[in-house]
Amino acid sequence: MKRKDLLGLKDLSRDEITRILDTAARFRAVNARRIKKVPTLRGRTVVSAFFENSTRTKMSFDLAAKRLSADVLSFAASSSSTRKGETLMDTARNLDAMRPDAIIIRHSRAGAPHMLARSFPWAVINAGDGINEHPTQALLDMLTMRDHLGSLKGKTVAIVGDIYHSRVARSNIFGLRTMGARVLAAGPGTMCPPDLEALGVEVRHRIDDVIEDADVVMMLRIQRERLGRAMISSVREYAAFYGLDARRLERARPDVVVIHPNPINRGVEMAPEVADGENSVIMEQVTNGLAVRMAMLYLLLDGDDSGGGADASA
Ligand code: ASP
Repeated sequence: MKRKDLLGLKDLSRDEITRILDTAARFRAVNARRIKKVPTLRGRTVVSAFFENSTRTKMSFDLAAKRLSADVLSFAASSSSTRKGETLMDTARNLDAMRPDAIIIRHSRAGAPHMLARSFPWAVINAGDGINEHPTQALLDMLTMRDHLGSLKGKTVAIVGDIYHSRVARSNIFGLRTMGARVLAAGPGTMCPPDLEALGVEVRHRIDDVIEDADVVMMLRIQRERLGRAMISSVREYAAFYGLDARRLERARPDVVVIHPNPINRGVEMAPEVADGENSVIMEQVTNGLAVRMAMLYLLLDGDDSGGGADASA
């Protein structure tokens, strides 16, 4: 790939997204083998620096780097000198002194990965920056959708919930629009950012107004940790108006694909019978996340997209 970093999907082209998804699809074969390791990044160092909580993203980036044979250093803000007052730039300068090849960063401040990308020579991968973007999540979502729909062009994706605070929604909107999908949004007025229409999204607010038209329904969690003010009157009311339960799902196409970036708040945005039901592909998203993260590390660090890494024997 010609870029040094993956900061967001806002400025990725259709060809770049297609190349990432195709490479990830090939890496799934490595993950299906008994010995799940290729030598592609042997001798390279990947640092995962998480300044915000994470379960899946951190685990799958660490595992992705290990499956490519890179050396992996894991940094968790909760157990680091950040707690002693060290700034992000000082932490990064110290990491730089150890000569890493790539840093995967999650930070509560939008733009933190961009600042590092401008200041240092190593590849920076954004693993979620505040309410801005979470590009690898959107790529794994798009790979999962593509698996089920064949192509994203002309397909309708309904995004439901707390879109305002969702970096997953923003990255998906950029990526899906670039790939020619139609994006519908539903959520309380306070949770739909004012620029949605300018991004090419049709805002309908009520879940009942988007569910019938959707090929894919993406349900989002309320980002309680980012709510600066009351945005809904009660969780019970939110679940009644915006939650996806079996009764609502009956109004959708029988083959509608239900996705969720995790973590799920069962009984709030999604009923357990839907999360575990036959339209749900949530575990496929997790499996695809590993392949997408392998593809990203491979494309940014190896520079060759011929599929050599995915095809190399263990
Ligand atoms: N795991 C996703 C994120 O980090 C979604 C979420 O937390 O709701 O943005």
